[in-house]
Amino acid sequence: MSAEPLTLAQRLARQIDAGGPISVAHYMAEANQHYYGTRDPLGAAGDFTTAPEISQMFGELIGLCLADLWMRSGSRQNAVYAELGPGRGTLASDALRAMGSTGFAPQSYFVETSPTLQERQRALIPNVFHRDSVGGLPDNAPLLVVANEFFDALPVRQIVRTGDEWRERVVICPDEDQPDRFEALPGYRRVESGIPAIAADAPEGAILEIPLAGTAIALDLAQRIARQGGAAIIIDYGYEGTAIGDTLQAVREHRFADPFLEPGESDLTTHVDFTMIGNMARQAGLRVMGPIGQGEFLRQLGIDARADQLARTTPARAAEVEAARLRLTDGNAMGTLFKAMAWVHPDWAEPAGFER
Ligand code: SAH
Repeated sequence: MSAEPLTLAQRLARQIDAGGPISVAHYMAEANQHYYGTRDPLGAAGDFTTAPEISQMFGELIGLCLADLWMRSGSRQNAVYAELGPGRGTLASDALRAMGSTGFAPQSYFVETSPTLQERQRALIPNVFHRDSVGGLPDNAPLLVVANEFFDALPVRQIVRTGDEWRERVVICPDEDQPDRFEALPGYRRVESGIPAIAADAPEGAILEIPLAGTAIALDLAQRIARQGGAAIIIDYGYEGTAIGDTLQAVREHRFADPFLEPGESDLTTHVDFTMIGNMARQAGLRVMGPIGQGEFLRQLGIDARADQLARTTPARAAEVEAARLRLTDGNAMGTLFKAMAWVHPDWAEPAGFER
């Protein structure tokens, strides 16, 4: 008789039972690794839809932006296209086609940990090289990097104001008979370093998020670009300045869900701290542009003209193209909550799209 394999929830419940509460960061890391590793979560039949899945215009405009930047920076033949967390590979496929139309055909490298999504990406871009971290990217060529909705999926540490201290926020499994149901609460462990000055007077129960994984990856990537040349375009749902608050959310079948129910079965994200992302690049010696709203970014790259052109060449799709343009750029949809930032090596030209 063979035992049923344990679900992630059961494994986490046993871990907690044996070793005590786990940090929110640990919980989020395990949940997302399982979630992305076991499915393709994108699109109407999945859990959520991202900008490149809404319209080909998104990837095309980013591709043209990179090709233009590359040409104005001296057309270095060995430059590579590197994407972090490419999902289905749709953005890359649209961007590479647009770059190719200008005569720029870089080799692609994808940083992707999900075997399921790697396979999907290879079906669309057969000659791509997969890497499981930024450390695996080539170290002898300029990097043109794109990361769309990548940083929001990385685990964050949460700390909670408790009396006049900050404590690690931890996860427990309160009821053995319901191993799918978890709960977060302030742990016993005091946190003393890495707390921003503006949080000094935070009220009891306030939550602060510390993007440990995101900070490490951003710094690694920025140092690579500083040594090797190139640029990065980072797009995500995020904010500037230190924000106090719990932004951890779960999405399943296009609806918000409870992040502490059935770990690994919904997409866990937090809002991205663009101040931190910009600071890592500046520390490495790069120039930083933005963040600006996704709507403004896409308009400055010419989305209105591209939409008109697509509507003229395929009149049957005119309404669909217009709906996609609005969804990507409107302030009531993705236009302002989603933000774009660029980093560029000081010897490279500034990318278009970030004019204020
Ligand atoms: N950029 C895509 C997909 C966003 S979903 C789009 O816009 O459609 C997040 C992506 O990041 C998925 O491809 C997921 O597998 C990948 N991912 C999540 N955590 C990761 C990690 N720690 N390292 C590498 N890839 C990761």
